[in-house]
Amino acid sequence: MTHDAIIIGGGHNGLVTACYLAKAGLKTLILERREIVGGGAITEEFHPGFKCSTLDHTPGPVAQQVLSDLNLLGHGLEFITPDARVLSLTEDGRALCIYNDTQRSVSEIEKFSAKDAKRYPEFIDSFAKIGAVLAPILSLTPPSIDHPTANDAWQFGKIGLAFRGLGKTDEYRLLRWGPMAVADLVAEWFETEVLRATVAARGISGSFAGPWSAGTSLGLLLQAALDANPIPPATFVKGGMGELTKALAAAASASGVEIQTNAEVIRIDTNEANEAKVVLSDGRELKARAVISNADPRTTFLRLVDPLDLDPNFLLKMRNYRASGTVAKINLALDGLPKFKGVDDEKKLAGRIHIGPEIDYIERAFDASKYGDFAKEPYLDITIPSLSDASLAPQGKHVMSVQVQFAPYKLRNGDWNSRAQEFADTVIEQLNRFAPGLKDLVLSGQVITPLDLEQTYGLSGGQIHHGEQALDQFFTFRPLIGWAQYRTPLKRLYLCGAGTHPGGGVTGLPGANAAREIVKDFKAKRV
Ligand SMILES: Cc1cc2nc3c(=O)[nH]c(=O)nc-3n(C[C@H](O)[C@H](O)[C@H](O)COP(=O)(O)OP(=O)(O)OC[C@H]3O[C@@H](n4cnc5c(N)ncnc54)[C@H](O)[C@@H]3O)c2cc1C
Repeated sequence: MTHDAIIIGGGHNGLVTACYLAKAGLKTLILERREIVGGGAITEEFHPGFKCSTLDHTPGPVAQQVLSDLNLLGHGLEFITPDARVLSLTEDGRALCIYNDTQRSVSEIEKFSAKDAKRYPEFIDSFAKIGAVLAPILSLTPPSIDHPTANDAWQFGKIGLAFRGLGKTDEYRLLRWGPMAVADLVAEWFETEVLRATVAARGISGSFAGPWSAGTSLGLLLQAALDANPIPPATFVKGGMGELTKALAAAASASGVEIQTNAEVIRIDTNEANEAKVVLSDGRELKARAVISNADPRTTFLRLVDPLDLDPNFLLKMRNYRASGTVAKINLALDGLPKFKGVDDEKKLAGRIHIGPEIDYIERAFDASKYGDFAKEPYLDITIPSLSDASLAPQGKHVMSVQVQFAPYKLRNGDWNSRAQEFADTVIEQLNRFAPGLKDLVLSGQVITPLDLEQTYGLSGGQIHHGEQALDQFFTFRPLIGWAQYRTPLKRLYLCGAGTHPGGGVTGLPGANAAREIVKDFKAKRV
């Protein structure tokens, strides 16, 4: 045995876990199947001179505690925050720009509705307050349903007190909103369709759900807990998301973590009493006191562990864990900056650009995926990171990064290999409707389908969050009820990725929470 802990996967959560374990004195090894670490948070050159965050647009955001504990700014991480947060385009050529600054946003919303402009500050304020109450839950280990501890009771007591501090109106809102369809929630606040759709879209990001699906407000509340704002964030990492995981890898190496790339684990074996073993695709066998999987739960339990090692009841539940992707990604190298209809100032393009002008537009895009097809008029979440980061494209040229929803993992007709070009053409056609002439600017494109997400990036079912984020796969239910404390039915095997609480997004929180539990077990000599 050469290491105390072996981490399968060098995604950002695996790296975060590794850093904390090494800081606690554990000799830690990361095995990453790809040639680079980073998982979803990577930057790659996809056309000569053009680079962008291959998958993610922006960090979740990363938890402050993680940033400071691991001194990521000291390891080269830099953020860029443009003033504009989201620019939402409409069919009739008007564009609504939401800024980080509430008053500036109010002036923009006023052009659409005086009533909405008046309500917007209260909406933002309410989410900020509710987000502050929910935020501590994200850093907690969910309590065990069967064996809650005194510490669980203490933590919940503190959250209960904060909840009481919200005052009656926001208390009531928090309790009522969680199970609601996000379309209903936004309709209670605003009359402007494009504003409703912009807010609602945050609740369904990466989900197999449309804005009219029950429980989608939970998605919005979870996001609000991360950054106290219902509007999607537009803080970029300088150099793309890969620079974030490079800083994490540097922090890990500085703490003594060993990182091996091109090292795919094909089997986890925990049958020996005093050690766990992983088998690699190159035939090597490595042993440690604990193995921690940053791979998603379905990959971990349905591909890497021998089914005979698991209780059939657990296996059945894991087979029912929902992880079917709905997102595809297209990265474009552009010969210049496209001109979007109704946009008078290019600074407004520097945050996210939202094409999904109405709630029903987004719902129709979801409908297609329910029936096994990609949307002909997809909801597009776009960024042009080269507008604020010149390192990503040659001068005068740009990169456009487009997240496309909905693109179901399983197509009813044909498959992703045969339909990727048709899909890309559909997306570019739709972009061109909102930015006439864009088609002629495209020098090259990278199309990443849900199948590519599975095959190249290791995401089971192409699910970007390692599993659907819904009420039944959340908190004490993530990934499964009874197994939400980062431990698994196999004594020496742990989980640390986005398939654990608090789920997907580049926050570092699952990794940090998992590390806390693993260190506890090492200290108590349970492994
Ligand atoms: C298209 C797309 C867009 C997204 N947009 C955003 C966004 O804008 N903002 C945001 O915050 N989040 C976004 N996400 C979600 C975010 O990427 C994930 O939540 C995050 O990457 C999860 O981090 P992780 O470390 O848990 O897992 P991952 O990043 O998935 O890393 C897991 C790692 O494990 C490795 N691995 C898997 N199996 C093995 C094996 N057998 N052996 C060795 N290594 C293995 C993988 O190669 C990978 O490197 C997006 C995701 C996708 C796919």
